[in-house]
Amino acid sequence: VFEIGTPERIVKTTCAYCGVGCSFDAHMRGEEVVKMVPSKDGKANHGHSCVKGRFAWGYATHQDRKLEPMVREKITDPWRIVSWDEALNFAADRLKKAQADFGRDSIGVITSSRCTNEETYLVQKLTRAVFGNNNTDTCARVCHSPTGYGLKTAFGTSAGTHDFDSIDETDLMLIIGCNPTDGHPVVGSRMRARLREGAGLIVLDPRRTDILETPHLGDSWHLPLRPGTNVAVVTSLAHVIVSEKLYDEEYIRTRCDWDEFLAYSEFLLDPRHSPEEVEKLSQVPADLIRQAARAYAAAPRASIFYGLGVTEHSQGSTTVMAIANLAMMTGNIGRPGTGVNPLRGQNNVQGSCDMGSFPHEYPGYRHVSDPETRALYERVWGVPLSDEPGLRIPNMFDEALNGRFKGLYCQGEDIVQSDPDTKHVTGALSSMDIVIVHDLFLNETANYAHVFLPGSSFLEKNGTFTNAERRINMVRKAMSPKNGYEDWEITQMLANTLGANWTYTHPSEIMDEIAMTTPSFSGVSFDLLDREGSVQWPCNEAAPLGTPLMHIDGFVRGKGKFIHTEYVATDERTGSRFPLLLTTGRILSQYNVGAQTRRTDNQVWHSEDVLEIHPSDAENRGIRSGDWVRVASRSGDTSLRAEITERVAPGVVYTTFHHPTTQANVVTTDNSDWATNCPEFKVTAVQVSPSNGP
Ligand code: SF4
Repeated sequence: VFEIGTPERIVKTTCAYCGVGCSFDAHMRGEEVVKMVPSKDGKANHGHSCVKGRFAWGYATHQDRKLEPMVREKITDPWRIVSWDEALNFAADRLKKAQADFGRDSIGVITSSRCTNEETYLVQKLTRAVFGNNNTDTCARVCHSPTGYGLKTAFGTSAGTHDFDSIDETDLMLIIGCNPTDGHPVVGSRMRARLREGAGLIVLDPRRTDILETPHLGDSWHLPLRPGTNVAVVTSLAHVIVSEKLYDEEYIRTRCDWDEFLAYSEFLLDPRHSPEEVEKLSQVPADLIRQAARAYAAAPRASIFYGLGVTEHSQGSTTVMAIANLAMMTGNIGRPGTGVNPLRGQNNVQGSCDMGSFPHEYPGYRHVSDPETRALYERVWGVPLSDEPGLRIPNMFDEALNGRFKGLYCQGEDIVQSDPDTKHVTGALSSMDIVIVHDLFLNETANYAHVFLPGSSFLEKNGTFTNAERRINMVRKAMSPKNGYEDWEITQMLANTLGANWTYTHPSEIMDEIAMTTPSFSGVSFDLLDREGSVQWPCNEAAPLGTPLMHIDGFVRGKGKFIHTEYVATDERTGSRFPLLLTTGRILSQYNVGAQTRRTDNQVWHSEDVLEIHPSDAENRGIRSGDWVRVASRSGDTSLRAEITERVAPGVVYTTFHHPTTQANVVTTDNSDWATNCPEFKVTAVQVSPSNGP
């Protein structure tokens, strides 16, 4: 007999929402969660949490979950519930047939940053060792792939350089294209506490975010740049620092290549990078750019945090490198209170990238063409491996529409809702012979699937997630999988149905293989994580308990690299037909496309997406707050209600993308980052007009 609220047992696990990676004590009674309590000893959250982690776990047992495998011949047929054997054989036969008819490279995988490290490792192993190609990609493609490219180029590793504890020691925070109090609330609260203590704040964002409303002692600046001009503004900050000689010469001479810096300085000093010139295209007053540059350079310890407002642009990778340049030239890398941190939107974006889910890299960011790494995996996996990079997600869609890509295993990702240009995605899926959706729910992508494999929630599995500060956190099984299997087991069953002979019996064995094959994880094991609570990679012989701060004595690549960051305007232009720029973001109570949070009580706080529009733009169109409006772009149109606000500047409109009824991605374009194909979700030319509703 239990008193109300008394748990039978407590299972320590990790929140499955954002990249902060809060630790929780799941208070369990039998197979029921009584409550989720943020762990006081959680190293990322120290006993704090937000409304998502604490209250929005009910989706895990929601009635909408599908618990049995299903198949259908054609996507117009009704689903047929079948045994696991039948579903796996159906999937394997069609995948084999696609390869027999259209070649080895005609099938691939899209995995998700929601999955554990161990699941992701197995999915990329399935692609490489069983499919025999490198056609594996991850939803990180559509969020932080430019971080992977940009930070690796500049510093030598694709990860945030400092930990969240550094916030308590920083003197100034430069926040670019992220809204931490909504998107990363526990980190946002920590930032607010530091602001109250007197730290300075610079926000580069087209929209006035809540962090700017924090009562604080220090100075703050909001640079409300026009969407699409990040590179120009960040490069102009560097222009001011160089022209006023505010850089840290000793740091640059010892940690970077001085001649390379001189060449970069020459590039920066060109008048086109001056605040006055950049004001003309970004609409940020030149004086604000100068003040912000001086404040960042003068701060003894300055930290940069950025988000998808940096990466989801046609120049996402260039902005990441411009940010890296700024931090290096002011000596703000490798000391407590300093650094560059890409705040990851999803629980395991970092881990998904670390685990080799990109088509060009093995786990640990080693290129598939590297003979030494390939030989290592050929030895461990016992099969020959391809040295050719595989297809990225948008290339898979293009190849499908060209009739050359015929089969997809999509795990934990609703690509129809979350990828740009929905019509392009659904056209590609419709043209495939086999689409396997492995998920908790029959999501929008499942409308185009032939096989549905029911997935398990974070409460039903063991494994690890890696947060935005490279912290590897344990996920522990609190209840048995309602579908019968943990997700890693399902991938193993599919691999074995296709002819492999995998024999993992627990995710700890998968982590042991990761440690054996990945230098930055060589010291990681479930035993260590149980003992320490969590560790930050690199965790190896040189750092047996992990590495909170990276690049302390030198950059991973040797000398930090300055890249010339030329601003190139996006192809997406406003004009008389589409005069406004639409940009997108998140709200505190909801999460991404809402598949989880919409199935919890959090729904009452935010039941629809709205369009924020400046009073002058609303007045010109005869729009009042609460009116239905039609948002039309070159790609498509959607309807939602208007909210009139001065948070956005004239000429800019903003919405969230949590509700499928809104389908914000119907209007977004298929422009993408030049280096990584990360979609340009943040800049879409639109027209807004009154409407009668959807
Ligand atoms: Fe922590 Fe993020 Fe989960 Fe909120 S959503 S509890 S901030 S990990």
